[in-house]
Amino acid sequence: MAAMATAVAALRRRGGLFRWRARAPAGCVRSAAQAAAGLQDYDLLVIGGGSGGLACAKEAAQLGRNVAVVDYVDPSPRGTRWGLGGTCVNVGCIPKKLMHQAALLGSMIRDACHYGWEVAEPVPHDWKKMAEAVQNYVKSLNWGHLMQLRDKKVKYFNIKASFVNEHTIRGVTNGGKETLISADQIVIATGGRPKYPMHIEGALEYGITSDDIFWLKESPGKTLVVGASYVALECAGFLAGLGLDSTVMMRSIPLRGFDQQMASLVTEHMAAHGTRFLRGCTPLCVRKLPDSRLQVTWKDHASGREDTGTFDTVLWAIGRVPETASLNLEKAGVSVNPSSQKIPVDARETTSVPHIYAIGDVAEGRPELTPTAILAGKLLARRLFGKSSVLMDYDNVPTTVFTPLEYGCVGLSEEEAVARHGEEHIEVYHAYYKPLEFTVAERDASQCYIKMVCLREPPQPVVGLHFLGPSAGEVMQGFALGIKCGASYAQLMQTVGIHPTCAEEVAKLHISKRSGQDPTVTGC
Ligand code: FAD
Ligand code: NDP
Repeated sequence: MAAMATAVAALRRRGGLFRWRARAPAGCVRSAAQAAAGLQDYDLLVIGGGSGGLACAKEAAQLGRNVAVVDYVDPSPRGTRWGLGGTCVNVGCIPKKLMHQAALLGSMIRDACHYGWEVAEPVPHDWKKMAEAVQNYVKSLNWGHLMQLRDKKVKYFNIKASFVNEHTIRGVTNGGKETLISADQIVIATGGRPKYPMHIEGALEYGITSDDIFWLKESPGKTLVVGASYVALECAGFLAGLGLDSTVMMRSIPLRGFDQQMASLVTEHMAAHGTRFLRGCTPLCVRKLPDSRLQVTWKDHASGREDTGTFDTVLWAIGRVPETASLNLEKAGVSVNPSSQKIPVDARETTSVPHIYAIGDVAEGRPELTPTAILAGKLLARRLFGKSSVLMDYDNVPTTVFTPLEYGCVGLSEEEAVARHGEEHIEVYHAYYKPLEFTVAERDASQCYIKMVCLREPPQPVVGLHFLGPSAGEVMQGFALGIKCGASYAQLMQTVGIHPTCAEEVAKLHISKRSGQDPTVTGC
């Protein structure tokens, strides 16, 4: 096999194989010699069938190229497995948003009685039923992705890939069968997996991660979530919303990198709605008690004391590790940043090897978000095969943290704007508002807040917008377009609101922080 790979590599260096391939019609992929040797050849090989990889592969196929995607999911340490589609579909955005929705429905049921619905209390929640419905939907998406690849004539291999040389990968199936696949251009889109704190006794043995939580058949029960970023707060938020006892262990600040005033309001709202916070604490060990519950010991850094608590589930949400370790990147000459394990890329998503690209979570310095991975993949395919020169623009990427009260933002945080432009050159408009829906339901709106960060000089270009409130993702999407187009405060003030909505409050912001006036919105 190795001799054959060397021979094929030599042939490729002379250009013969690729010249032949480039003329081969889409869908016709093997020469007799290659077929006999178990080798296959493509214009584009994508490693990783997640958000970025699938988008890139499908776009390249639409442009008439001969494309293969390899995707393989190593089961989580707890044994959770899933299908095609990557993190977002299986263990990320999709099941997370559906469980967030399940939690929001709980609040709406409570609101409903204020609106005249006679709902018998208590209203129990059935985890098993929710999880099964969510998992079935995810499985339908796995199937949908398979069908799309088939329709677009993208060849799919369920194999784990590692490089043999700069044009060839070796793929191994679940059963250990090996395949060599070669291609003219290769895209690495292998994403990442959750980190385990391996130094903590019992962490791997007894803890779970976001790779497992959405696939649990039984309720996780009383849960300790370790970490304080997107994954941690979203998971802790929906667990509390489903009526479970939920605790967040936070070693430093919440939502690092986000506007910290907004982050504080997010955690304040969560704390007011049932999530417990252990601030300034780090776990030391996890032990299993005879009754199968988990005893966690942690250090409280403020007091210097050790403390313990008992939980049914410990969820590690302490970040993610890029999936590069098993790719044998050195065989292809692809550089990796040794500290982050990510692959450095240039603006064209090119790695240190000119025909090998990296997109999505595995690429250094990119937002770890599905829409950026998808668009980067599509644009890359168009540049490679569609005569396009359009680069992915990673500026002003909007995002939403789906905590019970959602936080959506685009552009700079107030801290970043001050650091970049100086406080005297920044004007911040803000408002505390009450969503109309909250009034009849007598919901507390203390944390519903909007902040627009502008340059001070007229027309005051908007450099950041932050929205905390219901449906923040839906609200932010349109404003993100405006800000991407260079919208100014003056233009936003000329934008007519849609009444009565929460989004209209953005177009009504008139109190600057500098003025010191009370930013609480009263009446229409
Ligand atoms: P992935 O989607 O991770 O796909 C990589 C694929 O490659 C996987 O299937 C993997 O198994 C496979 N693979 C890895 N190594 C190999 C190999 N050697 N051979 C073959 N296959 C391999 N983003 C949002 O925009 N909105 C959200 O609401 C959101 N929520 C999230 C919630 C959670 C809990 C998590 C964990 C993430 C969330 N994200 C969200 C982030 C989003 O899921 C990722 O940014 C996105 O999936 C990255 O896409 P990707 O193509 O880079 O990689
Ligand atoms: P992050 O890397 O963003 O955050 C890791 C968190 O864990 C931080 O709070 C960090 O604290 C803490 N932490 C790290 N190591 C330890 C440790 N040893 N002990 C205790 N705490 C620790 O990771 P996430 O997994 O939350 O998110 C990964 C990415 O996935 C995000 O950047 C985001 O792009 C994407 N995502 C997007 C979502 C969305 O769009 N809604 C939802 C979920 C994920 P500290 O700040 O002190 O370092």
